[in-house]
Amino acid sequence: MVDHTSAAPGSAEAGAGGLENLLVEERRFPPSPEFAAQANATAELYDRAAADRLGFWAEQARELLTWSTDFTEVLDWSDAPRARWFGDGRLNAAYNAVDRHVEAGNGERVAIHWEGEQGDTRTITYAQLRDEVARAAAALAELGVQTGDRVAIYLPMIPEAVVAMLACARIGAPHSVVFGGFSAEALHTRINDASAKVVITADGGYRRGKPSALKPAVDDALASGDTPVEKVLVVRRTGQDVAWHDDRDVWWDEIVPRQGTDFAPVDVEAEHPLFILYTSGTTGKPKGIFHTTGGYLAQSAYTHKNVFDLKPETDVYWCTADIGWVTGHTYVTYGPLVNGATQVMYEGTPDTPHKGRWWEIVEKYKVTILYTAPTAIRTCMKWGEEEPGRFDLSSLRVLGSVGEPINPEAWVWYRRVIGGDRTPVVDTWWQTETGAIMISPLPGVTAAKPGSAQTPLPGISADVVDEQGEAVPAGSGGYLVLTEPWPAMLRGIWGDEQRFHDTYWSRFPGIYFAGDGAKKDEDGDLWVLGRVDDVMNVSGHRLSTTEIESALVSHPTVAEAAVVGASDDTTGQAVVAFVILRGEAAAAASEASAEEHIAELRAHVAKEIGPIAKPRSILVVTELPKTRSGKIMRRLLRDVAEKRTVGDVTTLADSTVMDQISAGMQK
Ligand code: ATP
Ligand code: MG
Repeated sequence: MVDHTSAAPGSAEAGAGGLENLLVEERRFPPSPEFAAQANATAELYDRAAADRLGFWAEQARELLTWSTDFTEVLDWSDAPRARWFGDGRLNAAYNAVDRHVEAGNGERVAIHWEGEQGDTRTITYAQLRDEVARAAAALAELGVQTGDRVAIYLPMIPEAVVAMLACARIGAPHSVVFGGFSAEALHTRINDASAKVVITADGGYRRGKPSALKPAVDDALASGDTPVEKVLVVRRTGQDVAWHDDRDVWWDEIVPRQGTDFAPVDVEAEHPLFILYTSGTTGKPKGIFHTTGGYLAQSAYTHKNVFDLKPETDVYWCTADIGWVTGHTYVTYGPLVNGATQVMYEGTPDTPHKGRWWEIVEKYKVTILYTAPTAIRTCMKWGEEEPGRFDLSSLRVLGSVGEPINPEAWVWYRRVIGGDRTPVVDTWWQTETGAIMISPLPGVTAAKPGSAQTPLPGISADVVDEQGEAVPAGSGGYLVLTEPWPAMLRGIWGDEQRFHDTYWSRFPGIYFAGDGAKKDEDGDLWVLGRVDDVMNVSGHRLSTTEIESALVSHPTVAEAAVVGASDDTTGQAVVAFVILRGEAAAAASEASAEEHIAELRAHVAKEIGPIAKPRSILVVTELPKTRSGKIMRRLLRDVAEKRTVGDVTTLADSTVMDQISAGMQK
């Protein structure tokens, strides 16, 4: 178990407190007057929330959701840290996501423009989506699923993934989505941890131009016979041959289409569990985070409307996240559908069949709002700006980033190359645990600073504190905390109350410890500096991995960088960097120039942030170890840098990456 309260071996004992504040970023991007004039959120939203925080959330919950029974109490915090939001209210998540839009006369609006990797497409209106969700719910009920039962979902990015989640929500059966790229073993653990009764899967999905199988992993996960799974519902996607267990397996197309469409949404309490989702596992064993219905939906809809400036009648929104990740829950399934948005959903990888695929999709559907991760942006930087340059991206008007700190240079590239130097960029900080966006600029209000998530949203209270839990003054670094409960907050770790308390609530009693280091600049804006576990201590100076990585990425030859602290006899820890070069630079590199180039990169870091941050060594690599959601797993690089056996790699996207890096290190 990862305990964020104690520093990881080899990391700075004192954690992020007193983090050196080194990298300077002076660029500012205020919204254009035209954008500001039409924006959903104005500065007044901050005032309203500050004047009456709970009243503000009650207003949002009533305005954005339809309740079957209105609530009288906004927040009950008497059993802290377990919150009850809108506790005596009742509603249904699927009703809010689909039925009510049809009832309001918007049934013909497109809910999902789906694009298969192979170029096959499906267009699904709200009316069609509502009916399909009702049929799938009826099918699940026929398979024995009742309110409160858990259902595991192991699907590729096909419309049935959204349908399956909403069908569970319609019954009030919490879903546990497991990323389709995870192994049978990872699936097995998650099925048992949540005691899932049914698994919804597909024969396979398309990845990198080929059908990749899913059903065999489910068969393996269930082979030991020690799971509570009774039925497996299988969507036909690739037509691959699959093994079949007659008493257990059911084809989706044999049971769902024959159902009627009158399965009514089950009314649940606001605090009824909506889903369980395991964290990415960037720092250790994943935690089964569970979320409830009313507060989660209210904050999802509120953030989706205001952070992305959504206009449901005219926008075409696209979030590239997989549904196996929290971003796919809140900003593919729940937020956009509750708000009645039209969205794009894409099955495959960004470079299939060519490196311009995403931009081709933006052009084709005239996408107006794009939400993606820094890792994807840096990959596009590596591929070069000619790729997006071949497509018309002028429909875009808001760009979002999530998942990791975004290096200022990647931020500026994103705005310039993808956003035509015109669009606001919102860097959104949040976690599986927070359920929805917490810290982010508002696109029509905030003068954006590349690399900073900036301000807690109206209604959210966040701060940076020192070792003692005292707020640090402007200009200092420390620990990122959330000082007041928020509607979409986790209600616990499934089946592990103690870990819930230990991980989040014991470092600073009474306030939520996020596990991230951050600094507060002179304006009071927040800069997330990476995990507390990743902070380095070099000759007594506490350095942030993020800042050094950003300095490396600001060199024109570097697309991506990962930095770790490796133990060092003289300095305690030394900075070790791994870099991926931009396409042109990689092509030009030769044996002879390599050494010079590395010397130049070291000098560049010294110039950007100071000699203390100069890496002891820099290794040029072609890939970095990342989780399935694209986060760099620094703990594995630390193992390599310290010549230890590499630790748990089960949540790694590509397990061969570590072999390549270890081999490179030995040279
Ligand atoms: P685990 O907790 O199992 O190690 P994880 O923290 O990677 O996994 P997630 O909940 O998917 O799982 O990720 C949340 C984390 O992602 C945050 O705590 C933060 O470190 C990082 N993060 C997300 N968005 C941002 C952002 N905009 N800026 C900086 N960091 C971000
Ligand atoms: Mg985490």
